[in-house]
Amino acid sequence: MFLVRLVYASTISKGNTESDISQILDTAKQHNASVDVTGALLFNRNYFLQCLEGSRLRVNEIYHRILNDRRHQNILLLDYREVSEREFGDWSMGYIPEVAMTTPINMKYSVSKQFDPYSMSGESAYKLLLHLSQVVKTV
Ligand code: FAD
Repeated sequence: MFLVRLVYASTISKGNTESDISQILDTAKQHNASVDVTGALLFNRNYFLQCLEGSRLRVNEIYHRILNDRRHQNILLLDYREVSEREFGDWSMGYIPEVAMTTPINMKYSVSKQFDPYSMSGESAYKLLLHLSQVVKTV
């Protein structure tokens, strides 16, 4: 079974808070580790941007759960492809907080200063997550 990478964007549902995000992360880290899925999750005010990498079967299963989760909405698949290697191999689900995102980093991958994952290409979204993961790891 080969490796795939999936990137999607979504919007947090009304009424959800920071504590919901830490609950989401706890579940994600625990479950992903048990099925050898790795990745990164960025939360920035309203939006989630997440990358999942692992076997096609496992990534697909997790994405289906995520699609049914009412804690977020407007889930948009940005990229899905076979890959030859993982980039987030040491993160069962690394969290990238809002503070990691500076205007210059966002501008490098976006069409405007406002972070809007719905207007990003799959490749830009993935590269942004990769860039931010390096920032988070070196802080
Ligand atoms: P159960 O816990 O049995 O829940 C049943 C249903 O309710 C599922 O549809 C579930 O999505 C939903 N649900 C669960 N808890 C809540 C709640 N507190 N409020 C509202 N609905 C709820 N899971 C992973 O395993 N890996 C990930 O990488 C991952 N990333 C996520 C990223 C985001 C932005 C979000 C919102 C969720 C993410 N989740 C992730 C959580 C995932 O959606 C499931 O809740 C989780 O995997 C448990 O799935 P389950 O089938 O055991 O559902």
